Amino acid sequence: MIKATAQSVLVIDDSADIHQLVGARLSSERLSFLHAYDATEGLEMARQELPDLVLLDLDMPGTDGMTLCRQLKEDAALVQIPVIFLTGTIDLSTKVQAFDLGAVDYVTKPFDAVELKARVRSALRTKRYHDLLVTKAQIDALTGLWNRGYFNDQLAIEISLLKRGGRLISLLMADIDHFKPINDTYSHPFGDAVIQRIAGVFNDISRESDVVCRYGGEEFAIILRHTASTDAWVIAERMRLAVAALELKYGKEQVRVTASFGIAGSDQFDDQARLSSKTLLKAADASLYQAKANGRDRVGVEWDHEAGGIWSRFSSG
Ligand code: GH3
Ligand code: MG
Ligand code: MG
Repeated sequence: MIKATAQSVLVIDDSADIHQLVGARLSSERLSFLHAYDATEGLEMARQELPDLVLLDLDMPGTDGMTLCRQLKEDAALVQIPVIFLTGTIDLSTKVQAFDLGAVDYVTKPFDAVELKARVRSALRTKRYHDLLVTKAQIDALTGLWNRGYFNDQLAIEISLLKRGGRLISLLMADIDHFKPINDTYSHPFGDAVIQRIAGVFNDISRESDVVCRYGGEEFAIILRHTASTDAWVIAERMRLAVAALELKYGKEQVRVTASFGIAGSDQFDDQARLSSKTLLKAADASLYQAKANGRDRVGVEWDHEAGGIWSRFSSG
């Protein structure tokens, strides 16, 4: 899940020679480069590409490096990107100001290849650790799935994208049936193993673009991107059957588990203005509740009309 991809460096300098020089000096490193020639272009590129490091010229015509550094550090999406200043000469008060603004380092031109490499490597190593920690904080320890915090963030992002441009998402909630007796009968560690196996099923059946999360104890939530509710129902059915077919052994005893599913799709909202993380979750939860009430081991299909919908387009599982 955590990939060690090549890190990217955004060079912002008005001199084309400096871009060339930096590229040449760092050519032996496994890096991809982005180039901007003034502060406006640099800020725009940083926002679009989210580089792992910014090499920033202190002296530029128009907006200078110091001002741009402040802008980068004021932007919540960019604040964690390390900035190294590129500078001709630098006096003590400028150094202090640069560090106060959040720069991690500076290098003086013309750069010594060894020094530039060492400083860039150091900044990128710290950035890699930072990214790793952020990712770890978003992962559920028992299952390796995304956790609820990450789910909430992603759902909010998906809803805002959807409101801007007609995208489609569906939500799938799953809850293991009668799980308490499984713990009580076979022990808590066995229950943990069941949760892990079911997480594996959801991971296997979902696609790369889906966000599969452990929502709570024995509850799961999955964001299905670009997916209509009718397709979400098909996927939920597939997951339901795969859970029911799991071969779980407690000693010699064969243990059966089932799960119930709730689905909700953005396409089910007649009134798009009512679509939000909250209403979509509420609808999926109502659908899950219905699955439980109708006997479990099924996909619920009816929603709470108060939540903004709907209908009964599907026949129950
Ligand atoms: P229902 O079909 O209505 O969902 O019944 P249920 O027994 O699954 O529901 P309930 O909410 O009463 O019980 C959920 C159980 O899940 C109780 C709790 O101890 C257990 N549980 C929650 N988190 C974990 C966990 O991380 N590991 C284990 N082994 N059990 C857990
Ligand atoms: Mg539950
Ligand atoms: Mg349950």
